[in-house]
Amino acid sequence: MSLQLENIAVEYGKASHAHRAVDGVSLHLPTGEIGALIGPSGCGKSSLLRAVAGLQAIAQGQIVSSGQTISTPEGMTPPEVRGVGMVFQDYALFPHMSIARNVGFGLAHLPRAERQARIGEVLQLVGLADLAGRMPHELSGGQQQRVALARALARKPSVLLLDEPFSSLDAAMREKLAQEVRVILKAAGCTALVVTHDQDEAFAIADRIGVMQAGHLEQWDSPYQLYHQPATRFVAEFVGDAVLLPVQLQTPRVLQTPLGELALTPEQSAGHAPGAALQLLLRADELVLDAASPLQATITQVQFRGSLQLCTLQLPTGHAVLLQSSSAIAMRVGQSVTIAARLNSLVLFSS
Ligand code: ADP
Ligand code: MG
Repeated sequence: MSLQLENIAVEYGKASHAHRAVDGVSLHLPTGEIGALIGPSGCGKSSLLRAVAGLQAIAQGQIVSSGQTISTPEGMTPPEVRGVGMVFQDYALFPHMSIARNVGFGLAHLPRAERQARIGEVLQLVGLADLAGRMPHELSGGQQQRVALARALARKPSVLLLDEPFSSLDAAMREKLAQEVRVILKAAGCTALVVTHDQDEAFAIADRIGVMQAGHLEQWDSPYQLYHQPATRFVAEFVGDAVLLPVQLQTPRVLQTPLGELALTPEQSAGHAPGAALQLLLRADELVLDAASPLQATITQVQFRGSLQLCTLQLPTGHAVLLQSSSAIAMRVGQSVTIAARLNSLVLFSS
């Protein structure tokens, strides 16, 4: 089932002084795809998800599912007939029921044999077929969350909505489970929309990612586009490790930057007038250590990240930039290094 949101708004409070938690959001999620919504706390992600689930009225626009309008400001299809399943952060398994009975909870309408078959099928899908007889407390957090996923999938929802499904798990576990859940959802042929505040999780699970800020959807795009062609400054800074540097277009071919002059192609400078003050997006993976480079910088901070490290450097102009390197390379605060820019894609914003 595909999902189409057309200019929807969610409001709380009385109409006279209503607070718009979601403001004019449009997006399309094709059948079988996994979408993720990321953004800071309070930006409206859960409100949007609840509107799709039919748990929350919309104040504007419409929600269409496989050609059928399911929400308008005038009315909405009730949640139970939308074919929508939900998985929440606190997966709330019934503690006194076995894993199999937890998974079969929503299947009371099926004949016994069919119910047992379906339970076996989804437990197989989430890789827990061997643990059907166990009790929830005998499972790890990650396994319990997979049971919650199995329970939601057992009812064959046409769209599965997941609100911060991994946030009660530790960081290392989260990304791994997000990847596993992606494989499970793809195997189930499920269309899904996942809310998270963790971009690594979003990148691990989604085909399309939406970045929200203050009720607005800033960009709805493939992970690649989001990273390499961010539509707004907010997206540029929210996704990945990056800085925005003040730069000036000297001629259509030359960009003056704190890193020195950069040669541009006419396509890259198109739309910007010569002389224009602009902002250049510089990602941590676009700076490299280069002994032959004339550009010096001083290390002001080093953040260890396992195999990699994220270094903050100060340029002679005083601007701070980020550099990602292998953590096997010794990088000490106060040390001077020579660096060079290797831009993957040129992203310029008007100041
Ligand atoms: P997120 O999931 O991105 O953290 P929410 O959708 O939960 O954001 O909240 C968006 C905004 O709407 C916040 O300012 C929040 O305080 C407000 N809000 C959420 N739910 C309600 C509610 N039931 N009543 C009033 N305001 C709410
Ligand atoms: Mg939320």
